This record gives sequence, C-alpha cells and structure tokens, in this order.
Amino acid sequence: MTLDVADRADSGIRAVRTQVCELHAELTRYGLVAWTAGNVSGRVPGTDLFVIKPSGLSYDLLTPDAMIMCDLDGNKVEGDLAPSSDTAAHAYVYRAMPHVGGVVHTHSPYASAWAARAEPIPCVLTAMADEFGGEIPVGPFALIGNDDIGRGIVTTLRVSRSPAVLMQNHGVFTIGETPRTAVKAAVMCEDVARTVHLARQLGDPVPIGREDIDRLYERYQKVYGQR
Ligand SMILES: [Zn+2]
Repeated sequence: MTLDVADRADSGIRAVRTQVCELHAELTRYGLVAWTAGNVSGRVPGTDLFVIKPSGLSYDLLTPDAMIMCDLDGNKVEGDLAPSSDTAAHAYVYRAMPHVGGVVHTHSPYASAWAARAEPIPCVLTAMADEFGGEIPVGPFALIGNDDIGRGIVTTLRVSRSPAVLMQNHGVFTIGETPRTAVKAAVMCEDVARTVHLARQLGDPVPIGREDIDRLYERYQKVYGQR
C-alpha cells in the first residue's frame, strides 16, 4: 500500500507538530526563556506551511495539537489558539530563506545583554568558530508589528555564516536546516555569550585569526559528529 499525497502531508505535519512542541522543553532546560518569552517553529517539508508555538501558553501546557500551523505569510491555517506574536518574523525568514527549516527566538540573558549594547560577540573561542564561523552579528533595532524584524534578521544573516543574530535591544533569532539545529544554535549562542562575557571581566579576550576560524568552521561543519 502506498500513501497518497494528502496522507504524506498529514504525517509530515504531525511529525513537525510533535518535534516543535518537544523542542520547547530545551528552551527551559537550558535557561533560555523566562515565562513564555521564546518560541520555536518548523517548516513542514514539501509544503508552504510552518508550525509555531501558540501565543502566551505556558511551556508546561504545550502539546502537539496546541501548536499552530501557518502559511508563509504568517496567517493561521490550523489551530485553536492565536499563534506566537513573533509569527510574522518567522514567516519572513521562511519566505526569504528557502534552505531554512527551523527558526528559534529567545531573550536568553547573556546574549540579550550583548544585544542591549548592540555589540557583536567576537569570535574568541574555537567553539564559536565551529558553530558560527565568526562573530555573532547584531541586527537592526526593529519594532514588532510589520516585516521590520524579519527583514532585519534576513539581511544580517545573509552576509554572515552565523546561524544566530542578536537583534538590537531585543534578543536572539537563530535559523537551522531543521528546528533542532536552530535550537542548538540558540543554546550555543547563549553559552558563548556567557563565556565571552566572563572572559571580558578580567581582561581582553584574544581574537582568533581569520584563517584559523575558517579551518575550524570547515572541519566542524563537514567532519564533526556522526556521519
Ligand atoms: Zn522577542
């Protein structure tokens, strides 16, 4: 028996709903969010749809069925609750960056402290070169309510190897091929934001040379992990 197209789309949607729901537990596990201020979304493969957290719902109450499905203009197409207030920014990223399969937003404290100063996090740790391929850049100040946040994320990340951007005076947005890799980038962003902050308390962190950053990034992106 073969699944028809509609059945395949249904099983894909179910899988993304479950994955996006479960990944919110990582935001609390790693201390990236206070109250409900953080969200994960995931593109439904092969469709013009993505799944995102509902607005204002406690992380403890999230279920796969509570997740909201939206089109790439950010309009709700399935779900009982209102989608996250950051839905327009997520939708803009999916429209503009077809390779992106997952987007995460947090106000994680150390990274947001860099955002509050509009200061990029310099690449002074090999783990940063591995994951981000250089500094973590700052995106423009933007108010919620139109496409300004989404546009700021995309214009900043298009000219960077980093999957994370610090939106000025706001917080972190990360992208990934999957929702899980976007969550990993959010976790790693907060980790290096904290470490570089600590390093600066006692002196000036030593930059890593461009060629060494390139070598570390190449190796990590192509060779590291289970292949
Ligand atoms: Zn925010």
